[in-house]
Amino acid sequence: MVVNSISGNTFLHWRRSMMLKGGRKVDFDWLLDIAAGVSWRKLQNIILNPDKCFSLEIPIEEIEVIWESHLKDNTPLQYLISKCPWRDFELEVSAHALIPRQETEFLIDIALKKVDNINAGRWADLGTGSGPIAISLAKSLPNWKGHAVDISKGALQLAKRNLEILVPQSNVKFFLGDWWEPLEKLWGSFDLVLSNPPYIPSDLIEDLEPVVKNHEPLIALDGGEDGMNASRKIILGALNGLAKGGWLILEHHYDQSEKITSFMKNIGMEEVSFEKDLSGIKRYAICRRK
Ligand code: GLN
Repeated sequence: MVVNSISGNTFLHWRRSMMLKGGRKVDFDWLLDIAAGVSWRKLQNIILNPDKCFSLEIPIEEIEVIWESHLKDNTPLQYLISKCPWRDFELEVSAHALIPRQETEFLIDIALKKVDNINAGRWADLGTGSGPIAISLAKSLPNWKGHAVDISKGALQLAKRNLEILVPQSNVKFFLGDWWEPLEKLWGSFDLVLSNPPYIPSDLIEDLEPVVKNHEPLIALDGGEDGMNASRKIILGALNGLAKGGWLILEHHYDQSEKITSFMKNIGMEEVSFEKDLSGIKRYAICRRK
């Protein structure tokens, strides 16, 4: 039995009425896809064959409630449905952690290229949040030992749940604390360390969109006066924390490439370089311990 069967015409009429309430079409269609299983392709089919009936994964009344809560106070749709697709999986997300961003996906591709000659090593993800980086590494580097760190208990619990569901057989441990600190016993042994730290300068937080600044954890966004407080701690920590020849790869704000790569060079890191994101912005800094 198809539970939420609806005719194309009724659905399209309803979709238009939802759009008239406000918000962005692209967000509404994202919600239809992720929460109700109406992909872009399915939507095109409905538009071409409006007389046919089709099924939704959840009732339209539920979609309506979610959309109205989003319009009321800008709560991100990802928090309202507790889901966010990222790379090749879907994470549980909550207000305990930043919603994983698309630009962070590329951090994984850069990292995997750097370590494709190491069969079994040790990685760390500093500031794991809901765990997207840790989960990707656990999937792609099954023989490695993984270490996911966060200072927020709520985020760490979320990351643990995500990992248990998405990579049940993984070899990943979780650590509560500030960047490198909880890993002290293992300093000197990391072959790969990734981080997407908070990097937005404090006085720019006010200018962020309400959907971000009123709902996502400030601790995951605010990087202090110049936005680089956490990045500097992580880079300095890498001097002792990385194994010899180990890699550190950081995501940073759109205008921090020069400063971050100079800092890496100045403290004696080697093979310092950058990579651009899909918009052509220098977004990732890479270095290696001597
Ligand atoms: N890229 C995020 C944003 O612009 C910021 C994430 C971060 O500070 N690490 O909202």
